[in-house]
Amino acid sequence: MKVLSVASEVYPLIKTGGLADVAGALPAALASHGVDMRVLLPGYRSVMAKIRQPLRLREFDDLFGASAAILAGKVDGMDWLVLDAPEFFDRDGGPYTDAAGLDHPDNWRRFAALCKAAAEIAEHGLGGWKPDIVHAHDWQAGLVPVYLGQGAAAATPSVMTVHNLAFQGQFGADIFPELGLPQSVFSMEGVEYYGDVSFLKGGLQLASAITTVSPTYAQEIRRPDFGMGLDGLINARAADLHGIVNGIDTKVWDPSGDPLIDTNYSASKLKKRQANRKALAERFGLEDGDGPVFTVISRLTWQKGIDLLTEAADDIVAMGGRIAILGAGDAALEGALLAAAARHRGAIGLVIGYDEPLSHIMQAGGDALLVPSRFEPCGLTQLYGLRYGNVPVVARTGGLADTVIDANEAASAARVATGFQFAPVTTDQLREAVRRAIRAFAEPKVWARLQNQGMKADVSWERSAARYAALYRELLSKQRPTE
Ligand code: ADP
Repeated sequence: MKVLSVASEVYPLIKTGGLADVAGALPAALASHGVDMRVLLPGYRSVMAKIRQPLRLREFDDLFGASAAILAGKVDGMDWLVLDAPEFFDRDGGPYTDAAGLDHPDNWRRFAALCKAAAEIAEHGLGGWKPDIVHAHDWQAGLVPVYLGQGAAAATPSVMTVHNLAFQGQFGADIFPELGLPQSVFSMEGVEYYGDVSFLKGGLQLASAITTVSPTYAQEIRRPDFGMGLDGLINARAADLHGIVNGIDTKVWDPSGDPLIDTNYSASKLKKRQANRKALAERFGLEDGDGPVFTVISRLTWQKGIDLLTEAADDIVAMGGRIAILGAGDAALEGALLAAAARHRGAIGLVIGYDEPLSHIMQAGGDALLVPSRFEPCGLTQLYGLRYGNVPVVARTGGLADTVIDANEAASAARVATGFQFAPVTTDQLREAVRRAIRAFAEPKVWARLQNQGMKADVSWERSAARYAALYRELLSKQRPTE
């Protein structure tokens, strides 16, 4: 079964968030399920610099006004398909923003080009390879099902995966004539959304199936308070909606072999974690103490509940906790955290920025991982936390609710608890969850059990890959009824 996956970021080529991890991990995870997945991503400057031995498989003289080509190339032994369109992607800054952090004004054109190129691959194939299914990720790939529906490959099933409904790719109606779509597509049944063009809405409307990255989030987005204006549409498509939780790359994230951490360890060698705790404390300037070190590895945004953390910080320190924070994001939240770190020198350490190696050091050396998100489609940091014995303390929402088992009385007695959950997502409840964690930490046996149970949890792609493969098969069987 051949599947073309289309994403705007793919680890290890380019990453700003969890989408990249998922898009990067799926091909390998699906290979053992009989799926030959190829991934198409934009040829950003940094991606082009990494691609080795590129083969030009298809040229476009005029793709939304630019000359472009689809290249196949290798990075670290893996094959990727790259849309090389220098006019769109050879720029300073990140995948979506310029060096000053502002959205590129032509983002709609850049990602429409990606979607159009994907539909062309489905129609004409690429070097003899033609997908049976096309799998689009997030708004940047939202027009894939839309373009697909217009061409010769209209019967090719498509899957639209929502990694975060908050980002929808909404643009003024004035761009519509430039998308090269028939006027009928600017309607309720197509990309029209309250008079604007919405890439994600178009994808959700027209994809054969919709998935999101956890069962709880799949239910939440059917409600007005989580649906971001799309709950009506999502409800209408509920029969085609699936919640499939993300896995993690258990080779990259493996405390027993991770080259980025001070001392490797495993569930049966938890004492060795001590050296990593020390390394973490040194890195963040934390003084010794009896209480746990809470870690935060996150975008610093309202979604992630970082304002709750700033409000609770003084009390967490007063209760005997220390906090190590790595993140970047809203200037106001960065400022509030810097102020908290200045107030509590030695108890709160902060690194502003994005630092993948440091995130490994934190997972290996932290006692608990704080994730106070207001909404969280899946969340990956808590999965890394489980795997590294960095006990997650999480808001009970989305994928956090699905992947962490709260240490309540019943779960503790049954020895299945892996962390702490709190709800509703308020500063008071966060404080209360921290209090519970500090109490459990004071009992080394209780804590070690939590770490052990978490480290044994299956956070691999195995089960979820099987679910994606089953979904693809189901879509193909619907497309081609058995004779
Ligand atoms: P989201 O995609 O909403 O940002 P996820 O938890 O799904 O949240 O994925 C975030 C990913 O990015 C994880 O792999 C996490 O470890 C990583 N990450 C987030 N912020 C940082 C940072 N400042 N430095 C290093 N890694 C980070």
